[in-house]
Parts: sequence; structure tokens; C-alpha cells
Amino acid sequence: MFNKRMQTLGAERSVIRELFEYANARKAEIGADKVFDFSIGNPCAPAPQLEGELIRILRETPPSALHGYTSAPGLWEARQAIAGHIRAALGGPADPALVYLTCGAAASLAVILAALLQRGEECVVFAPYFPEYRVFVENAGGKLVVAPTTERFRPDLAALEGLLTPKTRAVLVNSPNNPTGAVYTEGELRALAALLQKKSGQYGAPIYLLSDEPYRELFYGQRPPYLPRLYKNTVVLYSWSKSLSLAGERIGYISVSPECENAQTLFDSVCGAGRSLGYVCAPALFQRLVSRFAGETADLTLYRENRARLYAALTQMGYECAPPEGAFYLFIKSLEPSASAFCARAKKYELLLVPSESFGVGGYARLSYCVPRAVVEGSLPAFSALLGEYRK
Ligand code: PLP
Repeated sequence: MFNKRMQTLGAERSVIRELFEYANARKAEIGADKVFDFSIGNPCAPAPQLEGELIRILRETPPSALHGYTSAPGLWEARQAIAGHIRAALGGPADPALVYLTCGAAASLAVILAALLQRGEECVVFAPYFPEYRVFVENAGGKLVVAPTTERFRPDLAALEGLLTPKTRAVLVNSPNNPTGAVYTEGELRALAALLQKKSGQYGAPIYLLSDEPYRELFYGQRPPYLPRLYKNTVVLYSWSKSLSLAGERIGYISVSPECENAQTLFDSVCGAGRSLGYVCAPALFQRLVSRFAGETADLTLYRENRARLYAALTQMGYECAPPEGAFYLFIKSLEPSASAFCARAKKYELLLVPSESFGVGGYARLSYCVPRAVVEGSLPAFSALLGEYRK
């Protein structure tokens, strides 16, 4: 009676969203301070500098324009600010005419995949991966191909090479990474670029590199290299959800590198995909706001401190995990083969963790540490008690 695929997607919901809803209900039931909710990546670092600017925009923008439609790819001032930031601060190629404002990184992904993929064409991602990638690729009529990572979640290029075919239209990477916290090095990305260059030549058509970068500014060691500097057929997908703690406001962009093969045609296709998906324009107020904050971030001290505290405390207790290099996730080894069973057991201690099966691999649990410090401190006895169960 209805579209079966959509009905299934809506009814099953994502495991992360399910946990998020459970956390809210549980907090109402037993008190927010008793629930250690590490489920969703809902940023909470303060971005106080936004408020004054928002008030200024509200006062200064003529009422006729303030809440009105903007042009579909976005306000020219916002596109210029973004391209200017990419060129000046990231040293990468950018053209305001090839920048398209979106309702966050999710919309950037949905639009670029619809723009690129023809029925049956493939998009490769590295596991573990953000679960919505499958939803967007399949909605675009494409096929998601999953490549493995090596130990410590580095891209496995030998395996990737075996998975590239004449049907591969894109490889989608996410660094800093959700859920592992990995940040790919320049060497790793140069090797990836060389492989894609070679294969594009062999197949006589470009394989585009899609760089999903909502965590671009969240790194604790080396700065993530800006991919369009390393591979010309790159499209960057960005959002301010995490960097400025604006996740609920829905604002981000697509930047098609001017060095891309067929850049203008690809951009036309982006505009067409946005149109077909019903994205009339990105929220006007926030287009104006981010124009003034390209490249700036909320105060990220909280994430840095939570990361250090959790990593030290959990590894000292006996949990295993790689030190996260970026984003705000810790990917700990499950204490039993089934990550879902492990996370179900953690729930008994009011610890809400996401099982790694949601990200296409077994054996791990993801903790989102973009939470108030009190949640981290309060959770440590619960982590200890959980570990104790397995040591009995
Ligand atoms: N890509 C990755 C890797 C993410 O982790 C997220 C959100 O958590 C998104 C995209 C979507 O971000 P947004 O909220 O800006 O749509």
C-alpha cells in the first residue's frame, strides 16, 4: 500500500535514534543524573559568540529578506565566505559558484549521492561507517560497497583496490571518523588518491572522492589534511552541526572542487538533486550566521578533557580501545563477541552505548563523549561494575 522501503526505514529506525529516545524516557523515569547517555553525537560544547551575532542579524536584515527564500544554492555572501575560508585557511581550491548550502551533512550526503549515482553504480565506504551512508546510497539507486580497514581502523588500500570496478562512481571517506575517532594521515590519503587516479585512468572515467567532514576541526593531534589539495576529483561535504554545536539548526554545504572533472556539470547535477529531494534552500537565518563564522568553533575544551579522562580511566580499568585522534567518539572493544549483547548488558548499569553492528562491524561499542563532564565522572563506577560482571 505504501512505499515498502520507506515504511521499513521508518519502522525500524536507527539503533542510535532508538537509544536516544530510550535515554530521554529513562531520564524522565529515574532522573537525568542517573543515566549515562553516550548514545548520540549531540554536541554540547558552548558557542556563546553566536548569540550576539544572531541578534545583530535579526536587527540588521530587512524584514522582507530575513525569513524569506534564498536562491537554491544559497546566499552569495555565504558561498563567498565559505570559498574564501577554504582558500585562505585550508589552502584548497574553491569557487563560490560551486558551493551549495545544505541542511547539514546528512543533506549534503543525500544530495551529492543522488547527483552522482546512476542506477546500480557503486559507492565504496570503509567499515566501520556512519549507518546513514547506506540509506542515502540506496535511496539514490546505488549500491553500497563496504571495504575493510586495517588494525586501528586505517583504510585498507589493498582490499579497496580489489573492490573498485568500472561501476565505482565514488569512494566516501570520513576523517576525523565516526565511530572510531581515527584521523587519516596525509600519507594514507596520498596513497588513496594515487590509487583512485590509477583506477580512474584504467576505467576511463573519474572516481570521485567524497569527503564527509562534519568533524573537520575536532582533532587532538595532527590536523586532518584537506583532501581537495591531494585529489582533484574531490567533493567536500561539511556541516556546522558539530563544530559550532548547531546540529538542530541544519546547516552545512557541498563544495565541488573547481579542479573536478566536469565540475560545472556536476554542480548542475547537485542543484538538480537538491531540487528533486525538495531542499528548496538551506535555513536563511543560519546561512547568514555561518557566513560570519566560517572555520570558527565552539569551545572544544570539554571534548578534549572528556576524551583524556575517559581514555585514561577506561584503559586503566582494563577496557581496550585506540586513543581517539579526532571527533568525539571512543570505540571500545566489546567484552563479549556480540557487541549488541554487551551493550544490552551495559544498559543494566544505565550506560547507553551504541553496538558496533550498527556501523557494519562486530565486536565494539561506541561512546559519544560530547556530554557534560558530570556524565563522564558519574559513569566510571558503572563501567567498573560492568567490567566486574565479565571477570566473575
Ligand atoms: N556524517 C557523519 C560521519 C556523522 O557522524 C553525521 C552526524 O552525526 C553526519 C554525517 C550528519 O551530520 P549533520 O547533523 O550535519 O547532518
